[in-house]
Amino acid sequence: MPCLADLSLPDHSDILGRHTSLAVGAFVLVLVGVVLLVRRTSAARNDIELQLRKLGEAPSIGHLPVEPVRGTDPLAAGWNALLERVSGRAALDRLEQRLRESQSGSTSTQLSAVLNSLSDGVAVTDLQDTITSANSVLRGLLGQSGHEDAAGQSMLTMLSELCGPDAVSIRERMTRSSRPVVMEARRGEQIADGVLRVARKPVLDGSSHVTAYVWSIRDITQQKLAEDMRNQFVYTATHELRTPLANIKAYAETLAGHSDIDFEQQKQFYNTISSEATRLARFVDELLNVSQMESGALSLTRHETDMLRLIEEVVEHVQPEIRRKSIAFASHTPPKLPRLTVDKDKLIASMVNLLGNAVKYTPAEGQVRLEVEVDDRCLHLHVEDSGIGISEDERARIFDKFFRSSDARVQEINGSGLGLAFTQEVARLHGGSVSVASELNKGSRFTMSLPLEQDTRPQDRSQ
Ligand code: ADP
Repeated sequence: MPCLADLSLPDHSDILGRHTSLAVGAFVLVLVGVVLLVRRTSAARNDIELQLRKLGEAPSIGHLPVEPVRGTDPLAAGWNALLERVSGRAALDRLEQRLRESQSGSTSTQLSAVLNSLSDGVAVTDLQDTITSANSVLRGLLGQSGHEDAAGQSMLTMLSELCGPDAVSIRERMTRSSRPVVMEARRGEQIADGVLRVARKPVLDGSSHVTAYVWSIRDITQQKLAEDMRNQFVYTATHELRTPLANIKAYAETLAGHSDIDFEQQKQFYNTISSEATRLARFVDELLNVSQMESGALSLTRHETDMLRLIEEVVEHVQPEIRRKSIAFASHTPPKLPRLTVDKDKLIASMVNLLGNAVKYTPAEGQVRLEVEVDDRCLHLHVEDSGIGISEDERARIFDKFFRSSDARVQEINGSGLGLAFTQEVARLHGGSVSVASELNKGSRFTMSLPLEQDTRPQDRSQ
């Protein structure tokens, strides 16, 4: 049985003591929790504060010295969420920037590829005449290599150096006004030295102020040479047709209108009419030959030919003129010559051109010499004269169609400027060549070389 004392109520002070210690324990626990929470929160805050300070000192926003902080409290969570958004935006911005760069890069690469593919030189200059950009053709025209940069140089200075004879007029026209200008400029005294078409247009802003100039430069040398040849042709054709026609008409009218002309004089008139008609026919033949040469239709009809006999025929053609001008003529031919498979008529016409020119361009009582020599590969025909000769400038052009020397002594002699072009083509079709050595006022020496082994297969015209 429990004693009475055991059944009594617990002591009040005991209960109070126990509750007090429980409350103190709980309070300490809460306090520790709060302290821990405050410490963690203030560590995150310190971290954030430090990073914000660094951000303030950073040179650009592109170098963000920020990173997430540790912790799960609202401050850390908010900071970390903010960073995530910002870095996502920055990545997006970087991507957009890269896209824009690659787009504008590829547009400018495309543009410069297009400019470089043009056949004209193109450049842009500022108002001080400084080149700001130029394509590769322009750099080539200005004598620069593809990799050199024309930018920064003066366009007018470069053009003036390039087009010596027209330097002054280029400068004058381009500085006179800012209006569009198109002009032709020569690179040397001759057309063959080069001719450029220079065009300059102003670039205007919204208020019609000139902000820059665009230049385009085209090499028109070939076009000018073709125009020159056409003019030469018109001049030559008019002269070569009109003169014999006028003579034929005059002599025929005289013969028809005067019954009292004696027989000898009549004969002389008929001879003149006949020789003028021959001259006309020869010119028409030369024109036909040229048109055949142009179209690639000039072909050879080959036969095995006695070259000694062929050369005698050539001399016979020119003999009357040799006698008329009292030319001292000498011919040196080996007693035997090989037989070659050639186009006899075209070869005779070509050699007559060479010998005929020697007589034509040598004053009366001068000397002309014909020599034939054969080596193990070729037959060489040399025609040498003591005539007016050919200047160094013109020597390279005498084989051009319609070219005639500007020398007054040549101008007063009839000629079409087609003979040597034909002669050279005939030699080429035979696998041979024609060369010239000459000194002005001393004389000339033309050589036609023909291979002994004639390749009788059809010729490749592109050679
Ligand atoms: P053409 O004699 O009808 O003018 P060619 O084609 O035969 O035409 O000759 C072209 C030019 O070459 C001549 O106009 C002349 O200026 C020059 N030439 C040709 N042969 C001689 C020569 N032997 N001596 C001097 N000049 C010549």
